[in-house]
Amino acid sequence: RAKDDGRGMHCTYEPSLHAHAEERRTLELALRKAIANDELQLNFQPVVDAKTEGVASFEALLRWNSAEHGFVSPAKFIPLAEDTRLIIPIGEWVMIEACRQAMRWPAEIRVAVNVSGEQLLEPDFAATVVKALTATGLPAHRLEIEVTESVFLRDPKTANATLEEIVALGCSVALDDFGTGYSSLGYLRNNRFSTIKVDRSFVQGAAQESPESIAIIRAVVAMAQSLEMSTTAEGVETAEEADLIRSFGCTKIQGYYFGRPMGAEEAKSLVFRTRRAA
Ligand code: C2E
Ligand code: MG
Ligand code: MG
Ligand code: MG
Repeated sequence: RAKDDGRGMHCTYEPSLHAHAEERRTLELALRKAIANDELQLNFQPVVDAKTEGVASFEALLRWNSAEHGFVSPAKFIPLAEDTRLIIPIGEWVMIEACRQAMRWPAEIRVAVNVSGEQLLEPDFAATVVKALTATGLPAHRLEIEVTESVFLRDPKTANATLEEIVALGCSVALDDFGTGYSSLGYLRNNRFSTIKVDRSFVQGAAQESPESIAIIRAVVAMAQSLEMSTTAEGVETAEEADLIRSFGCTKIQGYYFGRPMGAEEAKSLVFRTRRAA
């Protein structure tokens, strides 16, 4: 993620930069109080089995409705939370809340939680996961951790060791936004990912008949199969895209076509509704 807060730029008189830093500062102060003020919420987006179209899991996606700033996009506040390390307490809240909600779903449905590098590289990250599982009673195998390639650039040794701990607990690990970072195959060899999430940009590309995007998705699916990992296509918005993705052999599909991120109550009723229909 881009770090654009301009910290350490003491010699600038650019008024727009100054205003930008001011805005970030007020946003940071508001974010600091967001948990205590009950302004954070989780939305859940269904991930469906490509063949049966049944819900396999939900991805927990953080939402911030600030009393002062209104609805703030994750694209804005997540990088801010990472830069200020507020992502540590926020991430702990997310982990517990996601597990707590998953306990209300049928036992075959799992929950995926996004974890930033800042969180994963903390020495007590695995303990945070254990705490959430213990506090909520969620079995470890129902929790999936999503990480992005960027953590392996920063500190591969710590990232590998922590992921090993997470897998030893019985949780699974997904590699998120695959193909958008500085993709290196080394970390596929060193880690037991259960899933590779193919970034939305490739899905969009394939839908526009980009031969490169199609070739890359096919190659990722083939590689995942031989490594015994599943693949999830992100950002599938239409029936045509779903069919296309299915033809490439992706195992799971996520996107607006099968469901937008929704509130916890809606997610719960979706699960029971689709289950009855099945
Ligand atoms: P992500 O993990 O790759 O999540 C998928 C994003 O794609 C979500 O954006 C989701 O709403 C969006 N999306 C899903 N299907 C579609 C589709 O069909 N079309 C389009 N155009 N978009 C789709 P969102 O919720 O804005 O989250 C953005 C990013 O913020 C996430 O990307 C993740 O990296 C980060 N994030 C969200 N929640 C958390 C959290 O609890 N902790 C951390 N550390 N990061 C989070
Ligand atoms: Mg994700
Ligand atoms: Mg993603
Ligand atoms: Mg993505």
